Amino acid sequence: MTPAKLIVRNIRAVGVKVPMTYVLGTSQQAVREAPLLLVDLETEEGVTGYAWQFCYLPAAAPAIAVLLEEVLRTVKGDPVAPLELWAKLAKRFVLIGVQGIVRMAMAAFDVAAWDALARAAGMPLASYLGGTLRAVPAYNSCGLGLKDEPAAVADEAQKLLAGGFRAIKLRLGYPTLEADLAAARAVRARLPAGVSLMVDYNQALTVEEAIRRGRALDGEGVYWIEEPIRHDDFAGCAEIARSLATPVQIGENFSLVHDMERALAAQSCDYVMPDLERIGGVTGWRRAAELAAAKGIKMSSHLYPEVSAHLLAVTPTAHWLEYVDWANAILEEPLRIVEGNAVPGSRFGNGLGWDKLAVRKYAMA
Ligand SMILES: [Mg+2]
Repeated sequence: MTPAKLIVRNIRAVGVKVPMTYVLGTSQQAVREAPLLLVDLETEEGVTGYAWQFCYLPAAAPAIAVLLEEVLRTVKGDPVAPLELWAKLAKRFVLIGVQGIVRMAMAAFDVAAWDALARAAGMPLASYLGGTLRAVPAYNSCGLGLKDEPAAVADEAQKLLAGGFRAIKLRLGYPTLEADLAAARAVRARLPAGVSLMVDYNQALTVEEAIRRGRALDGEGVYWIEEPIRHDDFAGCAEIARSLATPVQIGENFSLVHDMERALAAQSCDYVMPDLERIGGVTGWRRAAELAAAKGIKMSSHLYPEVSAHLLAVTPTAHWLEYVDWANAILEEPLRIVEGNAVPGSRFGNGLGWDKLAVRKYAMA
């Protein structure tokens, strides 16, 4: 099939604040509403590509939208060829730097561009990229933030098994090792046998403290320890990974694939979990997947479960999909979870589409 030629016509971006089913209380911050920017890439041919961007802060949404205006000024009238457009935009933004909200705008545009191409070809994104749409093992990453009482964490853990999840993720980084252990043990005691428990420190510890707490967790049957220390201390991460029996997982903060190259060269982790936006959209993800395959390292996703389900289907060392339900309220067709697997629908493209009434309801003021 010859892919239809598409020409960039317009980009529309709408900010929404979607209430979260479960509060996300990390060691850094508690988040109760997900600020999302919904991005539509319109083409001259009438095909539209979609992406949503998690903004971390509501204030970032209008800022990214303004940068998308600059993206449009740069590529309006160009063919939708994501690799070439990424290169053109990277050149356009070289002085400010492809990082932060600039990268967020570029990545959202890139995701929408691949979506438009797959839709125009009449194929799901996974098929368009040469793979087969399939169910992907997912862990429930909603909630399980820091709480005052271990029993409250365990109660929430039990709720998160709905949908047949066989893995969940607990945030740690309490003031003491004892509190970390109390939370991990309370959750573990409540989980049926065979359910995996990941833990995430969100960069809370020093290298020394990570080794001390990690060694204690080695006896607790934890599946991986995520981001124990600041994300860019790859030498420190390597020391921790060498010191612990439990695998160390990092990657949500890799900014573009060269960061991941540096991390892997430093042997800083056992597993990687790039973030669709920070790694550089679908274009960046595919480069990361090739790198992970070359190094034989297992690769999971971070956020963006709908698009990541398609991408993990074409990732040779695919590991786990991180499931969050944050966008469900504004999606026409939320990602389905069946027996703990993410099951993409058979819609063309990446499967995203907005529930217009819900978008109006949650629109940012
Ligand atoms: Mg994390």
